Parts: sequence; C-alpha cells; structure tokens
Amino acid sequence: MDVIRTKAALRAQVAAWQRGGETVALTPTMGAIHEGHLSLVRLGLERAERCVATIFVNPRQFGPNEDFETYPRDEERDLAKFRSAGCDAVYVPDPGEMYAAGYKTEVTVHEISEVMEGASRPGFFTGVATVVSKLLIQSLPDIAIFGEKDFQQLTVIRTMARDLDLPIEILGAPTVREADGLALSSRNAYLDPKQRDIAPALHRAMIAASEAVHAGADPRVAAAKAREDVLAAGFDEAIYIDIRDQDSFALAETQAENLRIFAAARLGDCRLIDNLGI
Ligand code: AMP
Repeated sequence: MDVIRTKAALRAQVAAWQRGGETVALTPTMGAIHEGHLSLVRLGLERAERCVATIFVNPRQFGPNEDFETYPRDEERDLAKFRSAGCDAVYVPDPGEMYAAGYKTEVTVHEISEVMEGASRPGFFTGVATVVSKLLIQSLPDIAIFGEKDFQQLTVIRTMARDLDLPIEILGAPTVREADGLALSSRNAYLDPKQRDIAPALHRAMIAASEAVHAGADPRVAAAKAREDVLAAGFDEAIYIDIRDQDSFALAETQAENLRIFAAARLGDCRLIDNLGI
C-alpha cells in the first residue's frame, strides 16, 4: 500500500491505474479509522479495482470553539487499518499541500447547507464542500464514497459534484453501528463510561419516532417526543431532532413518502449525530 503525500503523485497514480483500464474509488476521511470507514473502503473495492483512502483533518471545517486541536490523530494505526482492509494507497497531505500560502477559494452549496448541521456549525459545510472538491479534483477518481452516517454531508457533496460538473459518481454507504445501536464515530472516543451507556438512547429514540410515524403519528409530534426521550435518558442537549424530506430537507408537517429523521445531541462535551430513513 502506497502512502502518498503530494497531489501530483496522487493524480499520477490514479491516472496510471485508469490508463491500464482499472477504475478507482476514493474514500475521504479525517483519520481515527474505525469499522465505519473500513466499510467504505470495502464498498470501494467491490465497485472499483482500486481504492484510495485519504486522511486529512481539515482545519476549514472546524469552528473556533470546536475540537480541531484535540481531534484524535494516529497515522501509523490508521495506515495499518487501511492496509488490512486492502486499500491500494492512502493520501495524507500536509495542510500546506492542501491550502498553499495565498489560498482564497471556497465552495458553498446554498440552502441545503443552511439547516441542521449548517445552522448549528456555521461554515462547516463550506469547509467540507471546499476540501472534498479539492480532493476529487486532485485525484479524479471514477467514484467517491461517503457514509450515510453524515447524510446531510452526503447530500451536500452530491449536489456540489453535480453543480460543478465533476465526472465522478458519488456513492453513499450504510451506517455501521455498535451492537447497541450507537453509530460508530471517531468522536465516540470522547465519551466516558457513563456517557457511553447513555449514548445509544439517541438511536432508540429515533427508532421509536420512526415507528410512531409509520403507525400514523404526526411527524412533528414524533420528533418532539424523541427530543424529550433523549433528555430523559440523560443527554445534556437535543441540538436538533427533526423529521424532514430526505432530499429537500423541508420539515415534514404531515405524513409523506421519503422522510428521514435527523438528530444531533450533546452528552457533556461530545456532540453525536445520527439519522434514519423512515
Ligand atoms: P470522518 O472521518 O468522520 O470525516 O468520516 C469519513 C467518512 O466516513 C464520511 O463519509 C463518513 O460519513 C463516513 N463514516 C463515519 N462514520 C461512519 C459509520 N459509522 N458508518 C458508515 N460511514 C461512516
């Protein structure tokens, strides 16, 4: 498995594979690799001959009071996991390789970036859309794979790739969960044992809301009940728990097709997000 540090070497390697008739999948990450990330690599290797993972903790998607400095970083461990999953190469650029002195350009996807994660984390999706645009243009893969765990992010990236005419298929991969339902996340490492016991209540509340809507409940009432449930279970804050149309992100006011429940909730300093199709 090659470890690539420059965009020139990345583009040359991907182009060499494609010239030889092989297709290439890209799976961008911020490191602290877990089974959720590795499931993207495995899907990449099912859909393409080669899979390139990327590790880059993108400073532009963190707010001033967020965890950029303390975000878990362990390159050796991450590389070993990618190697064991069968990755062909891992791209690990320095911040200076990504944002050279004098860097000035940003990519913003309007409207769908402004609700939920975008409302509670100003600038987050501009940071994500900018770095993912750069990673896709630097590598020019055939497909790029993102987790449904970050469903709004997946939608923002699909829209960005469509609007910028990037000739790359964007593929979503299902959320990988612990046995108790907690979605795998690098930030779960911040949970202490007591918080770890409380954390699966988020997924339970989302399932209950989804079942209630199935049984005929008003989606606004079901979402409000889920907010109460997570606070009763010991969460410190329900940042948002909404039932929305999964394409437009319009809040659901009645029973409808195509609904999804989206949640962000805080346990101490740890901010968990999750979502579920209804
Ligand atoms: P991150 O390193 O957290 O930025 O995540 C990198 C990619 O892995 C994103 O496309 C995420 O949506 C995806 N991902 C993170 N956690 C999971 C999970 N539990 N299941 C599936 N994909 C995930």
